[in-house]
Amino acid sequence: MQNSKNISVLTLGCPKNVVDSEKLIGALTANGFNVVDNIDKSETCIVNTCGFIKPAVEENLKVLLEVMNLKIQGKLQKVIVAGCLVERFKEILREEFNEVDLFVGVESLEQVVRYLKSDAQLKSQLLGERQLLTPKHYAYLKISEGCNRECAFCAIPNIRGRLRSFPIPNLVEEAKSLACKGVRELIIVSQDTSSYGIDIYGEPKLLQLLRELVAIPEISWIRIMYLYPAGIPDGLIDYVAEEPKICNYFDIPIQHISDSVLKSMLRGNSKKNIVNLIENIRAKVPNAYIRSTLIVGYPTETEKDFEELIQFLNDYELERVGVFTYSCEDGTYAFNFGDPIPEETKNYRLQEILKVQSKISLRKNKELVGKELKVLIDDKNNGLYICRTEFDAPEVDNLVYLKADPDVSIGEFVNVEILKAKTYDLLARLK
Ligand code: SF4
Repeated sequence: MQNSKNISVLTLGCPKNVVDSEKLIGALTANGFNVVDNIDKSETCIVNTCGFIKPAVEENLKVLLEVMNLKIQGKLQKVIVAGCLVERFKEILREEFNEVDLFVGVESLEQVVRYLKSDAQLKSQLLGERQLLTPKHYAYLKISEGCNRECAFCAIPNIRGRLRSFPIPNLVEEAKSLACKGVRELIIVSQDTSSYGIDIYGEPKLLQLLRELVAIPEISWIRIMYLYPAGIPDGLIDYVAEEPKICNYFDIPIQHISDSVLKSMLRGNSKKNIVNLIENIRAKVPNAYIRSTLIVGYPTETEKDFEELIQFLNDYELERVGVFTYSCEDGTYAFNFGDPIPEETKNYRLQEILKVQSKISLRKNKELVGKELKVLIDDKNNGLYICRTEFDAPEVDNLVYLKADPDVSIGEFVNVEILKAKTYDLLARLK
C-alpha cells in the first residue's frame, strides 16, 4: 500500500479508546499516511472498537457490518479492526468477518502501522505522537492501562489486563506537549485512577502526579475521572480543596449502595464507607460536584436494595449520576449468578433513578441562577456558545449555553452569569 492512501479511523467507546486512536493517528501521520475524518474519502478504514458490555458489543457489530458493506461494494480497499472487541472475541470475529484484513487487540496498535507500512522502518512509535480527536483546548490524559480489581460484573480486567501505570515523567512530558498544542483542560482517565502508581512505585502516586501537572503553566483545569471509591489516596480531597487548578469535581463510580449488593459485586466497599466518603468531600470541598455511576438489575438486587438506592440518592443528592442496566457478561464472576431480573424490571428501575435524579439536577441547577461561574467554551452552534463549568466533564455532563458574542472564542475561559436553569443545562450571559 502507498503512503498517499487515505485512512479513516472510527473510534467507538470510552475516552480511553479515544486516547488510543489519537496515538494511532499520530503514528500513522508521522509515518506518511493521510488520516481523513470522512470514511467516504478513505481507502482504508480502521475501526477502534469497544466491547465491555452487550449493548456496546451490539452497537460495534452494527458499525462493523456497515464498514464491511463498504468494502464489499468496493468503496474501501482495506478494513482493520482493533481494540477491546477484538481482544474479547477475536476468534468469533475472525470467523464472522473473514473479509477483515487485520485484527489487532488493545496492546498492539503499532501493528497497524507496521502492517500498512510493511516496506519501511517505523519513523515513529505510538507514544508521544498524539493527534487530538477532541477540540484542541482539552485532552484526555490516560495515566494507566488495565485494572487489578475484581468487580464481579466487569469484563475489563479480562480485556485490558492488569494495572500498568505510566511513569510520572512520561505523563508530565505528554501533558507539556499537549499544553504546547493549546490544551487548557487535562482530563485524567484510567480504569481505576485511585490505584495509579501502585504497580510501579509500590504505593499510590496520584497526588504526586497531580502536583507535577498543576505546575504546567498553560494548564488551567485538571479533571480527575474514575476514582475507585474504596481506594482514594490519602490527602486527595484536601488537595482538591486547596489547589485551584484541580476541578472541584469528584467522579466516583459507586455502582450501588446496598451492602449486600456491594458485597456480591466484590467492590470491597460498604454503604458506611461510601457515605463517610461523601460527607468528607462535602465537608472539605463544600462546592464540589460529585458524579457517580450506578448499575440497576444486578442479579442479587432485591426490591429492598433498589429502594435503598433511591433513598440514598434522595438523601445525598449527588449532582451527576449515570445509570446502566446490568449486563451479564461471559467471563465475569457474576456470570455464574445468571441474569434473573427481567429486562422490564431493570428498565423500570433505571427510569425511576432518572426521575429522582432529574428532580435533584433541576433543583441544583436552579440554585445557580444569578450566580457567576467560570466556563470553558467548547463549541458554537446556532448562535450559541456551548460551554462547560468545572463541574462538567465533556460528553457525560451538563452544558451551559451562552449567547454568542464576537469578543469570545472557542477554547477560552469566560465568566458568565446564569440566567435560566433547565433540568440538565443552563442558559447564561457574559459577566
Ligand atoms: S474498578 Fe472494577 S469496574 Fe472498574 S475497571 Fe476495574 S474491575 Fe472493572
